[in-house]
Amino acid sequence: MPTPAEALPPTCDLLVVGSGAGGLGSAVVAASLGLDVVVVEKAARFGGTTAWSGGWMWVPRNPLAVAAGIVEDLAPVRQYLRHVMGPDALDPAVEAFLRHGPAMLQFHLSEGVLGFIDGNTIADFHGDAPGAREGGRSVCAAPFDGRRLGPHLRRLEPPRDILSFMGMGLAGGADLRHFLRATRSAASLAYVTRRMARHARDTLRHGRGTWLMGGNALAGALLRSALDLGVRLFEDHPVTALLMDGARVAGAEVSTAAGMRRIRARRGVVLACGGFPHDDARKAALFAHAPTGREHHSAAWPGNTGDGLRLAESAGARLDDALADAAAWAPVSLVPRPDGSAAAFPHLVERGKPGLIAVDARGERFVDEAGDYHRFMRALFARHAPGQAIAAWLIADHRFQRRYGLGCSKPWPVPVAPMLHCGYLQRAPSLHALARRCGIDTDGLLRTVAAYNHHARRGDDPAFGRGRSAYDRLQGDPDHDGPNPCVAPIEHPPYYAVRLVPGSLGTFAGIAADEHGRVLDGEDRPLPGLYAAGNDRASVMRGHYPSGGITLGPAMTFGYILAHHAAGRPLPMSPPPA
Ligand SMILES: Cc1cc2nc3c(=O)[nH]c(=O)nc-3n(C[C@H](O)[C@H](O)[C@H](O)COP(=O)(O)OP(=O)(O)OC[C@H]3O[C@@H](n4cnc5c(N)ncnc54)[C@H](O)[C@@H]3O)c2cc1C
Repeated sequence: MPTPAEALPPTCDLLVVGSGAGGLGSAVVAASLGLDVVVVEKAARFGGTTAWSGGWMWVPRNPLAVAAGIVEDLAPVRQYLRHVMGPDALDPAVEAFLRHGPAMLQFHLSEGVLGFIDGNTIADFHGDAPGAREGGRSVCAAPFDGRRLGPHLRRLEPPRDILSFMGMGLAGGADLRHFLRATRSAASLAYVTRRMARHARDTLRHGRGTWLMGGNALAGALLRSALDLGVRLFEDHPVTALLMDGARVAGAEVSTAAGMRRIRARRGVVLACGGFPHDDARKAALFAHAPTGREHHSAAWPGNTGDGLRLAESAGARLDDALADAAAWAPVSLVPRPDGSAAAFPHLVERGKPGLIAVDARGERFVDEAGDYHRFMRALFARHAPGQAIAAWLIADHRFQRRYGLGCSKPWPVPVAPMLHCGYLQRAPSLHALARRCGIDTDGLLRTVAAYNHHARRGDDPAFGRGRSAYDRLQGDPDHDGPNPCVAPIEHPPYYAVRLVPGSLGTFAGIAADEHGRVLDGEDRPLPGLYAAGNDRASVMRGHYPSGGITLGPAMTFGYILAHHAAGRPLPMSPPPA
């Protein structure tokens, strides 16, 4: 349902640029506080990377945990962050995030249509750090019935094709477990059959699935809330420049089908363009492993080309790139497209399952593969000299591929042939032949697998400790009939490999902003009229990765905070954990 170009009003209170969690999260709260809000989106559909994401938000002391009896005060959370982030944890913005995150969730629960499911068994990434928890600090967007969007459903970006099953978005946790168990459990088969039947009906009637999960549910529910609150939303409306009144940001120039339009914003402009994951020049400048930028393959939305950062710079903002890491690193594989391009598939799920290892070109392991994706990539980077081409391979056997799938190649009964023919998946009758096919050192790989298998038969991994942490075990297979849900020998030919290259889920470096979400200039003074949210804002975790959900949790929380600031309304005090 394209919006007529002339409908873009000449004025509003708050202009929000971008429609992911940062943008829609700000817009919904601002509209509920009485502001006249306009959202302009560059793409043909709303949602950005958020609509492709898992939809998990790290929000310690969240209301769902409290309701389940998981009550903690801020001291252990601060202790954990201090351990993971060092002095960066003392930034006032970190404190603002911790204080107002629970109230942000409470706001959506009581004012909007966005619901949540708890993450009470989702462990922090650094389980051995003081203050870490094995659950209760995150929530995920609850499934959302896309039919509630009515004709606006087609304005929402669908789940990413390569991450979905026949266009059906899958959510982590119970949903995915049912799909992986469908050939072994009657209950899971019934669940999957019901999901597929509904998806088939939806596709006939609506042209897409309507049972939205994870990040698609998050974006869909925020879109519904925004529409209900009278937010005016314009897709295919990229912002190309900011309007200035002296030093104050007063609005923006927007490209529309009818030509350039100007919109003035009385209370401010929110930049929420999703950071710079597809801005080659910025990547080349900030990513040591990507001398031209093109060596880095982000799984984020392709429209996130760094516009927000450039717009902010044009108004005199300071960019904050002195972070521990400039992006949320993730290993990705490149899925060939019929048009000759390739899509970056992020390996978030199968690395923790039993019977898989990752090796470098020498055939050597380098990390606990079941651990988090960011640490995985840091370990891989550490094995390469700056400028050296970086790659690794996931190695598994036939039993593994058929049970769990490998990257974008799905488990049984989905055939592997198309993934072999397009060159995505490598297969060979022996490890020796597999190593030769992939260009991996043959002796190295044989030695590595023999050493790994020797211990794996007993469920051990003395080299890297797969399965020792709570986070690892959560990624493993609870149905595995061995002592360690993350460890099994690799010994059932044929053998498979998928090549990994450096990638990310989004960027961390970004626009310097304060605890109110205000953009800062070169002297750390707030730039009047300009806010930043989502990945346009430099990560509040300052390039550290304490837990899953540390981009969407802060994106939603700073959207909530800056909306109050723009509306001139005090932030409600977080309810004390009861
Ligand atoms: C597969 C995957 C799973 C993930 N899972 C999680 C998870 O579970 N938890 C978590 O915390 N993080 C997760 N992430 C990361 C997370 O999705 C992103 O960090 C987050 O969605 C970024 O939100 P955002 O609002 O900043 O940007 P986006 O959601 O990408 O939205 C930015 C929008 O701005 C638009 N835009 C760009 N330029 C302009 C312009 N000039 N004018 C107007 N609009 C513009 C874009 O088109 C886009 O729609 C995941 C990422 C991926 C790829």
